[in-house]
Amino acid sequence: MADPDINDAREILRRVFGHREFRGLQEDVIGEVLAGRDTLAVLPTGGGKSLCYQIPAMLREGVGLVVSPLIALMQDQVAALRTAGVAAARLDSSVPAGERSETFALLEAGKLDLLYVSPEGLAAGSLRERLGKLALIATDEAHCVSQWGHDFRPDYRGLGRLAELFPGVPRIAVTATADQPTRADIAAQLHLEDARKFIASFDRPNLSLAAERKDRPAERVAQLVKARAGQAGIVYASTRDGVEKIAAALNGAGVAALAYHAGLDAGLRSERQKRFQNEDDVVMAATVAFGMGVDKPDVRFVIHADPPKSIEAYWQEVGRAGRDGEPAEGVALYGAGDLRRSLMWASQSDAAPDVKAVQMRKARQLFAFLDGLACRRAGVRRYFGEADAAPCGACDICLDPPVSIDATELAAKALSAVLRMDQRFGRGRVIDHLLGKPPRDSLDETYAQRSTYGIGADTPEPLWRRVVEQLLFDGVLSEGEDSLRPILAIGDEDAMRAIFRKELPVRMREAQAKRGRRTPEERRAARAARRGDAAGLDDAQNDLFERLRQWRLSVAKQEGVPPYVIFSNATLTAIAEANPKTLRDLSGISGIGEKKLARYGESVLSLIDQAP
Ligand code: ADP
Ligand code: ZN
Repeated sequence: MADPDINDAREILRRVFGHREFRGLQEDVIGEVLAGRDTLAVLPTGGGKSLCYQIPAMLREGVGLVVSPLIALMQDQVAALRTAGVAAARLDSSVPAGERSETFALLEAGKLDLLYVSPEGLAAGSLRERLGKLALIATDEAHCVSQWGHDFRPDYRGLGRLAELFPGVPRIAVTATADQPTRADIAAQLHLEDARKFIASFDRPNLSLAAERKDRPAERVAQLVKARAGQAGIVYASTRDGVEKIAAALNGAGVAALAYHAGLDAGLRSERQKRFQNEDDVVMAATVAFGMGVDKPDVRFVIHADPPKSIEAYWQEVGRAGRDGEPAEGVALYGAGDLRRSLMWASQSDAAPDVKAVQMRKARQLFAFLDGLACRRAGVRRYFGEADAAPCGACDICLDPPVSIDATELAAKALSAVLRMDQRFGRGRVIDHLLGKPPRDSLDETYAQRSTYGIGADTPEPLWRRVVEQLLFDGVLSEGEDSLRPILAIGDEDAMRAIFRKELPVRMREAQAKRGRRTPEERRAARAARRGDAAGLDDAQNDLFERLRQWRLSVAKQEGVPPYVIFSNATLTAIAEANPKTLRDLSGISGIGEKKLARYGESVLSLIDQAP
């Protein structure tokens, strides 16, 4: 038999997975792996990374070994493969003994196309000896191998040895997020220096992004979630306590919300994750402990009640919305206190000094991005090295460009006040001092003699707050690590002097309320109205879609898998639009391969038949 080539791959794509064409870089990546060469592929979430190793594993001789960091991810992928009729199995600590020995029997008989393992599982020598011939080795979520990334997993480090353990076996590493240094590190750690690298655009055209400075965050989160009632979403908070409070507040407001964090016992966590996964209108309030295991495709929004740790983490987290390619949203709330906490965590972690420095720089970049004046999506893409990213036209900044004001003079006054007050006070007292408020105690009394006392009396207090925040975001001011009474100090003396000399302009967003801008809800409504024409299901089609969805839910329950393993929303929408009458019609729809056609085709057709 001739070596498999890209035409064989396309045949599998059509017959098994029911997709007509490769997407983006899939074809190039698959061609490379089929040719037996090492590959590093960075494709956006929803870009179809799994097929990049699944199809070559099915075509090449031997079993394809897939290393994946999370059991939930493996479960989902194996369920989806089996539903499509692919011989796939997993070996991880949660697999019962009986199933393990079945898997080994299949492995020895050479009847397995894909085997998913955890990094620890692979470290055990006994497994390695029983693997037999390998078609390829795939490392999923490869950014976990790098400590520059945001999801570093120490047990991923051992994967560097795969190159010597399995010489001659092509290796492919895939990930959705990695900035340039992280990519270089992945290549070095996994010995993929010579591998061909495929880096897709980081754009996610279906995501609408927004960020706001925090103002009564609890109420704001409830308001944002209620405006999205009936959709599946995630609300991230940084602490367990914050998560519990948000879940309680949402439930109080009549939204079905669950809490998820590392403080809950494992059984409860997996039960909640399952509910979120298997229903399509549950809101999960969570810490980032609710993370990579989530590959639910129809998450419609991600709200950051507290900001993430870096732009990469942000992209990974908002990236959990809209994996199915349908419109989805990300809203992030942030404040100067969050930046202080991020910097504190980084500086107090037990990481090596250079790692800490990178973490602190990444925190600053994140806040500059959140508080910035440039298109959100383009900002992320530039961060990942796409120099020519165009404005997205759909984020808060593009839809309603904020006016920036020159705050250089105010900044100089605030910096002078911090200096004249000997860098001994927190934000509140510095601002009171600028405003010339009556002294509260004898210490205030002393400082009321200084030349900066009252120099800002003609500027309203909220504006001073924003100026000080801006200087914190820019790093010109810093806040001490005492969490109860953080002290303002000069963070960057060169920048300060440049501001005094008016050589470094300080630009700041005008306060949002002042301009009577549209609220995010109004912008949403406007967007939804625009989308209506594009999505374009009429009433009858909508009705069919709903009935297909109910049918899918009951089949999924019977088979004990998440609904999207049966058919994706995109496939259901395509069925509702096409209104197919025969199995042949049905087989032309993307996402319906041979096996699914045989298994579900008749049920779908009879559902269509019953149309009122
Ligand atoms: P990733 O892991 O990159 O986020 P997945 O591999 O989970 O993405 O694929 C995301 C979705 O896109 C899945 O529902 C998958 O079936 C679908 N998909 C993948 N490749 C194609 C393709 N060539 N055509 C249509 N749909 C595809
Ligand atoms: Zn934009």
